[in-house]
Amino acid sequence: MELSTRDPKLETRNFFLLSTLLLSVLFSPLDSLAQNQTRGVFRQSRILMGTSVEIIISRAHPKTAEKAMEAAFQEVERINRLMSHYRPESEVSQISRHAGKKEIRVSPETLEVIERALYFSRLSGGAFDITLGPVFRLWDFRGGKIPDGEKLRENLKRVDYRRIKFDRSRSTVYLDDPRMEVDLGAIAKGYAADRACLVLKKEGIENFLVNAGGDMRAGGRKEKEIPWTVGIQHPRLRSHFIARIQPQNAGIATSGDYEKYFLKDGQRYHHILVPSTGRPARECQSVTILAPTAMDADVLATTVFVLGSKKGFALIEDLPGVHALIVDRRGSVLLSPKWPAGVLLPP
Ligand code: AMP
Ligand code: MG
Repeated sequence: MELSTRDPKLETRNFFLLSTLLLSVLFSPLDSLAQNQTRGVFRQSRILMGTSVEIIISRAHPKTAEKAMEAAFQEVERINRLMSHYRPESEVSQISRHAGKKEIRVSPETLEVIERALYFSRLSGGAFDITLGPVFRLWDFRGGKIPDGEKLRENLKRVDYRRIKFDRSRSTVYLDDPRMEVDLGAIAKGYAADRACLVLKKEGIENFLVNAGGDMRAGGRKEKEIPWTVGIQHPRLRSHFIARIQPQNAGIATSGDYEKYFLKDGQRYHHILVPSTGRPARECQSVTILAPTAMDADVLATTVFVLGSKKGFALIEDLPGVHALIVDRRGSVLLSPKWPAGVLLPP
């Protein structure tokens, strides 16, 4: 299936969005009554993990919903304390600070996320790499500056996921080179969404949607006969959707070149980098992934974005329950071959 999203009016403005919600949860006009508890829909957003995290619960008892919501937000905050590289005391910061010196004992959660990241790094031949930090930092998307080529080459030597060593039995992680760093920016939000969902279920909630800055996980249904519906943002027209998706007990995430970017000499420089060159990936405008978990959807959206449609579709082909919607660099919308019937709707 192919539709066009090209538009001549586009690309006229530079801008930088720290935490754009890539996917939006769509509600009918009646949903402005979301807080109307007689309908049993509860919706709350908080700024966590440097983005807006939204939890929606439907068809639950108000008391149960309130308690579950609070517990789920606490869980997101707990994950952030473990994994944020902006927090000096997080486990991830400790791993980076002791790079080349000593291994760090980490929680099962941090180990799980790092192992999963490494699994996808190997699977993609390095298109996904959580050691990109030293190169990523050279890009100033707000200031619109391209890094110096020499400095970029120098810092690229510090990027290599194969030099992350871990020991599952002792739950330790070690970076082989003192100049290496770990950045879970392309996986931790998805994981946090999954953890929040676990907590909601444990608290007795069956129908929920958690959106951690565009990395989402849906459970159950919005209403008895109506599934959760998520709008896929047009990569070049703000506030426009290219399609709607109805995920059924699945994770969904989008990576786009319109989140953090600047334009220079007609070129778009954005925040999803090819780890082998340290420069922005050029194959896609946006990639939306449906997957069994939000963590996998989060990682794979970034990974397929780097790989492009041909290699990206090949990568996900054998992954159960994983599907991709790609807006390629020309603006064409491509669906992976086994895209499930009924999940995609017109905008
Ligand atoms: P996302 O918006 O989920 O695609 O994640 C993008 C963020 O992940 C960036 O802001 C970087 O911190 C980091 N990142 C960029 N490119 C990659 C990559 N190829 N592999 C892993 N992380 C990346
Ligand atoms: Mg991602």
